[in-house]
Amino acid sequence: MNIRIGNGYDIHCLVPDRPLILGGVNIPHELGLLGHSDADVLTHAIMDAMLGALSLGDIGHYFPPTDPKWKGADSLVLLEQVNQLILDKGWEIGNIDSVIVAERPKLKPHIAQMRDRLSEVLKVNPDQIGVKATTNEKLGPVGREEGIAAYAVVLLVLK
Ligand code: MG
Repeated sequence: MNIRIGNGYDIHCLVPDRPLILGGVNIPHELGLLGHSDADVLTHAIMDAMLGALSLGDIGHYFPPTDPKWKGADSLVLLEQVNQLILDKGWEIGNIDSVIVAERPKLKPHIAQMRDRLSEVLKVNPDQIGVKATTNEKLGPVGREEGIAAYAVVLLVLK
C-alpha cells in the first residue's frame, strides 16, 4: 500500500503568564497554554497524526515531558524531527487537515501564518496544510476557556 493515514489529538490548559503559540505563531492573548514544551497544541496534534500514520507511537515517546531537554522546546523543531523520521522511512506528506477548538481569541486572522510556518518546516506547499478553527459553543472545558484542543489528520504518501 502506498498511502497511510494518521490522526492526532491534543489539549493543553490555558493559564496566565504563558505565551499562546499555535502552529508556531505567537498569538496575542491574556492567557497562554501550559506545558513542558511551548505547548503548541496544534503542532502536537499534527506530530501525533504523522507518527500514527506509520504506527510509530506518539510524541510522548520521542520527546518525554520528564526529559529536561524538552523544557520550553519550540514545537516546530520537534515537528522538523518527526518529519525527518518519516522521510527517512521513505514517506512524505500528502496533506494535513486540522482543527483548533478555542473559545477565544479569534484565530481566523492568524491561520494563513500558521499554514505558512508549518509548510516551511515540513517543506510542503501551504495548500497541503489545512488549518481550521472553531469554538466549542461555550460547552465543556474548552467552552469555559480552561484549555485549547486540536485535532489533525495526515495522509502520508510513499516517496
Ligand atoms: Mg501536547
